[in-house]
Amino acid sequence: MPGPLRTEAIVLRSIRYGEADRILHLYTPDRGRLSAIAKGARRARSRFGARLEPFFHVRAVLHEGRSELLTVTGVDTIAAHRRLREQAATLDSAARACDAVARLFETADPHPEVFRLLANELGLLEADPAHARPGNGLAFRLKLLLAAGIVPQLAACAVCGETEHLNGFSGAAGGVVCGACEAGAFSLSEDAYRFLVGALGSPLARAPDGAELTLRQVERAIGDTAEHHAHVRLRPLLAA
Ligand SMILES: [Zn+2]
Repeated sequence: MPGPLRTEAIVLRSIRYGEADRILHLYTPDRGRLSAIAKGARRARSRFGARLEPFFHVRAVLHEGRSELLTVTGVDTIAAHRRLREQAATLDSAARACDAVARLFETADPHPEVFRLLANELGLLEADPAHARPGNGLAFRLKLLLAAGIVPQLAACAVCGETEHLNGFSGAAGGVVCGACEAGAFSLSEDAYRFLVGALGSPLARAPDGAELTLRQVERAIGDTAEHHAHVRLRPLLAA
């Protein structure tokens, strides 16, 4: 019998199950995404209290059983992120961040950098609601693409290697493309290009910003990349 798994975890989703239980989707540093059941978690006097709501960063003790579903036997709070729940904008940004992680990293493969990135994002939203802006959300997604190994190529045309006249973006080709290779690409402005480079080169706390059209092009570049190379459709971030 293996011993219990002790791990930090962020609650991505918390789903009511049966009469009093919860099924949790957890993101962990060394075991990727896990599902676990917390028995009796919805009883008024549950020993878990409210510590199994989405966005909680916890230290959990999990037991492995015969199914893929682990059983939560203990949980301590590292960060509750209470303040980010108080405003619609921060709550929504946090939900989209967790959703993007769940979609791009749905297996048990370890990605400790994704865990740290998500913990960092939730910490920023908790500390200052000003981070709940599209520029931050897009920079977060770009960093997820980097962690997934599918970051768009930006330094040269993804088709022919040309380094000038990079006016288009092609998710299928895997990055920016030059004027000669732009079949199947959409046109990418100078500002959108600068956003992509800047977001990858700066910490999340200093994510760049841009005009709406710029951010729309960036979102399209990220969405096309995720679809072509991870077969994942991300939830829209900017309102239609
Ligand atoms: Zn080219």
